[in-house]
Amino acid sequence: MSDSNCIYLLASNEHLIGTASGVMTFSAEDLTDIPLIASYPLGLIDHANYRVGIVAEGDLPEQVDQDALCGLRTMLASVEDETTYTLLSSAAQIVIWHESFKFCPRCAAPLHAHSGELAKVCSSCAHRQYPRISPCIIVLVRKGGQCLLAHASKFAPGRYSALAGFIEAGESAEHAVVREVKEEVGITVKNLTYCFSQSWPFPHSFMLGYMAEYESGDITPDGEEILDADWFSASNLPVLPPKFTIARRLIDRFLVDIGETLPEDSTLFFAAE
Ligand SMILES: [Zn+2]
Repeated sequence: MSDSNCIYLLASNEHLIGTASGVMTFSAEDLTDIPLIASYPLGLIDHANYRVGIVAEGDLPEQVDQDALCGLRTMLASVEDETTYTLLSSAAQIVIWHESFKFCPRCAAPLHAHSGELAKVCSSCAHRQYPRISPCIIVLVRKGGQCLLAHASKFAPGRYSALAGFIEAGESAEHAVVREVKEEVGITVKNLTYCFSQSWPFPHSFMLGYMAEYESGDITPDGEEILDADWFSASNLPVLPPKFTIARRLIDRFLVDIGETLPEDSTLFFAAE
């Protein structure tokens, strides 16, 4: 049952419902005849209570044009402010969590959505399961007026970005920065500075963004995760990550720090600092 006081984002088959203009929202009235398999709270935005509802694939509201639907990255590309980014990122992660964690890790009985909070509860032993978050570091290594950008094997051709990796069990974020840079491109860094963080819904990363200074070593890509890496200055930048990414925000900050003017599409989030 939908709640008449809430605004809903919807998902079916693990995908949020939205177009290139952004994620679609629905009132309880729009969902009168549509059964929600589950729904979870997203929080209060501008005095409105947002929730994400899960519906069966054939149960979409009539105003949804199936041919216009698009993926999460396209929807994120249309985001113009951090509040909308957070809403979309939260909803996407909750949807993946809903689909991926269906049984209790203690006793294997089915989990169901908690009525009051963002959690699932075991139908047998009452164990609570919260959405999974995986902490990662992302770091822009600097050497004077240049920064180190890398082409990872999973990137689109020609695109370069900052280095990133998961924080391992028992490790600090700072240790992870030093280890990842060494492992991925073979250089040693110093003078780490924490900058900002961002939730990254592919599928449930929490990125801690750092700047670091080059100390020693020659760039040697590991050949597996990183296929190429190099030093770039403002005048020879490669294809950069999209504006909604924390990687782009780190690169933007670097450009400001060295006295360069930001490209017009680079101001997202950074403008608020
Ligand atoms: Zn259980």
